[in-house]
Amino acid sequence: MALYLPPTEDLGKSEIHNSNWTRLLSKYKGVDHDPKWVYMYVNDFDGHPLATVIYDRFPKAMVHLLVIPVNIDVSRPDQFRRRHLPLLKQVHTIAKQIARTISIKLDIPMPIMGYHAIPSMADIHLHIISTDFDSPFLKRAEHYKSFTDPDYFLSPEKIESNLINYDFVHIISSDALKRQLKYDPLMCLNCGEEFTSLKDLKMHLGMHN
Ligand code: AMP
Ligand code: ZN
Repeated sequence: MALYLPPTEDLGKSEIHNSNWTRLLSKYKGVDHDPKWVYMYVNDFDGHPLATVIYDRFPKAMVHLLVIPVNIDVSRPDQFRRRHLPLLKQVHTIAKQIARTISIKLDIPMPIMGYHAIPSMADIHLHIISTDFDSPFLKRAEHYKSFTDPDYFLSPEKIESNLINYDFVHIISSDALKRQLKYDPLMCLNCGEEFTSLKDLKMHLGMHN
C-alpha cells in the first residue's frame, strides 16, 4: 500500500475556481486529473475501477484522505439506497485496510472514517482522518465537531446498517445538525473532557497522540 506523502507545497491552495467548485472531486472518477493528489487507485474484485483515494487539499489532521467511489451517482448520504450496499461494502473494507495500514506505518491511533451528513462537495466521498486534528486548516470548532458528532459524521457501519434495515440513511434535519455543530460542547473524542476554546482542545489532543 502507498506511503502517506501529500504534495505539501500545494496543500491549502485553491484550484482555479470556476462557479462549479463543488464538482472539483469529479475528475478523480475519470482519468483527467493530476496524479500527485492520488494516494491510491482501487479496483474491485473483477479488476474494474472501484474508487480513487486522494489527499484532502485542506487536511484537517495529519492524515486526511478522501475515498471517492467512481461508479456511483450520489452526492449526499441521504441518496444512498440498499442497491448501493455491495459497492459501499467494498469501499468500506478497503478504507478500513488503508486506515489500519496508515496507523501501523505511522505509529498513530487508528484514523476514523465517515461521511459528512451535509457535504459541501458534490461527489460522494468517505473521509479517513487521524484523530490528532493537528492542522492549520482546522480553524473553527465546527470543523472539529463535523468529524466527531456521530449525527454529522456518519460511520460506514451506520450507513450499512441503515441501508439493510430501512433502505435509506436516517439523517436528522439540517437545522438540528447546524445547531449541534454550533452549540454542542467541544469535547475530546478520546476522554470526553470539554473545552471552551479550540486552541485548548488542540493542545489537549496532542497528549493523546
Ligand atoms: P465535505 O464535502 O464536507 O464532506 O468535505 C469536502 C472535503 O473536500 C473537505 O475536507 C475539503 O478540505 C476537501 N476539498 C475541497 N476542495 C478540494 C479539492 N479541490 N481537492 C481535494 N479536496 C478538496
Ligand atoms: Zn482527552
